[in-house]
Amino acid sequence: MHFTGTVYRNPYWPTWPLLEITQGCTHNKCKFCTMYKDVPFRMSPMEWIEEDLKELSESDPNARTIQILSANPLVLTYDKLAPIFEMVHRYLPKMEYIYLAGRVSDLKNKTVEELKKLKELGMKEISLGVESGDDWTLNMINKGYHAEDILEQCHKLEEAGIDYWMTFLKALPESLTVVSTL
Ligand code: SF4
Repeated sequence: MHFTGTVYRNPYWPTWPLLEITQGCTHNKCKFCTMYKDVPFRMSPMEWIEEDLKELSESDPNARTIQILSANPLVLTYDKLAPIFEMVHRYLPKMEYIYLAGRVSDLKNKTVEELKKLKELGMKEISLGVESGDDWTLNMINKGYHAEDILEQCHKLEEAGIDYWMTFLKALPESLTVVSTL
């Protein structure tokens, strides 16, 4: 299996199998986060992804869930994600849930129709590292989007019928306590 840099597994989803399709974070500027400072963002080569799926099809052929890494694979466009999801189903035919995490801004490059198609391919639930709904706080931590963006993008998810949940910071920026990684 290919794993690069820090591997964060969302503890609220089944923590195996995992499949890395991206490395690093496209934003990498949140003031409280050092997880991917040394890992430039890139999409994994399709050959790596296929090699890993072959391995998983031998070790875990009946897998019904898979957690996609890392750190914000949701940023990939529909045209990049759909072939990967189709490949997941080819190697793991019982797959039901393809779990992804990402940033609110990762949804901007997808239409509602594209989100619906991704849902049909298994992306029924995503996790968003929102951190706060307050613009002052979002600016302070350099999150790169605002409350209005959260509302706009989450409405798209609702229209597409994709479940989502959010993680938030639980302290003010002066004494940040991190409860989220995205
Ligand atoms: S908190 Fe998330 S979006 Fe911000 S730099 Fe870290 S991984 Fe990237």
